[in-house]
Amino acid sequence: MPAQPRPIFPKDTLALRWEIIETARALPKRGLTKGTSGNVSARTKDGFLITPSGTPYEELTEAKIVAVDLNGCYRGDILPSSEWRMHLDFYLAKPSCGAVVHCHSPRATALSCHRKGIPAFHYMVALAGGDRIDCARYESFGTRALSEAMIEALGDRNACLLGNHGQIAGGPTLKKALSVAEGVEDLADQYLSSLALGEPVLLNEAEMADILQKFKSYGKQPGELEGGQDAAFELPKKVG
Ligand code: 13P
Ligand code: ZN
Repeated sequence: MPAQPRPIFPKDTLALRWEIIETARALPKRGLTKGTSGNVSARTKDGFLITPSGTPYEELTEAKIVAVDLNGCYRGDILPSSEWRMHLDFYLAKPSCGAVVHCHSPRATALSCHRKGIPAFHYMVALAGGDRIDCARYESFGTRALSEAMIEALGDRNACLLGNHGQIAGGPTLKKALSVAEGVEDLADQYLSSLALGEPVLLNEAEMADILQKFKSYGKQPGELEGGQDAAFELPKKVG
């Protein structure tokens, strides 16, 4: 009997590999990155799956997505993204994070080149889980030093800018991580526009604490609110 070809990767990761490719391809489609800049990963039971290094988005296939374990080891002939350590450290630092997106989105990158984070100039900075989004110091791409700078800038939030480089964002799912990265880019765009008139008025600590509280129930229907949780806004009277 002829030998059966060995499967290139475990079949149970097929759907996740496709979701990573779709998320990665959304980056250039949505104007969040160009060329081979940026990378995408998703957590698995023993590590994470990540896009390969230096590969154009249209050339991605399931077999080119690389599995990396939580010790930073990989198998196979294809190198994982040069930023595998940032992704690894993101997962190690944030147990609830299931996916990470790194990109060189134009407006966030412009701010990062001035080593400027995004302060509470708009309540939506809360989308990263805190009252501001910090910018990490510059370190060369693909280094442990960059990852350490990222961890410092993340603090207890789930996104940060990377000095003279771009941004990185995480979330429970690939969809959510992509939407946080897109949100960071929107905020960078709005912040840069508002800076044209001088320094904008910043929201204070109490105002941001109020928003962070409201974000816990925003998007939920009344029946989905956990016991004792307030609705995100004043509800109109339901008459039907
Ligand atoms: P990779 O192609 O190795 O993922 O690198 C792209 C990048 O953005 C490096 O920071
Ligand atoms: Zn990069």
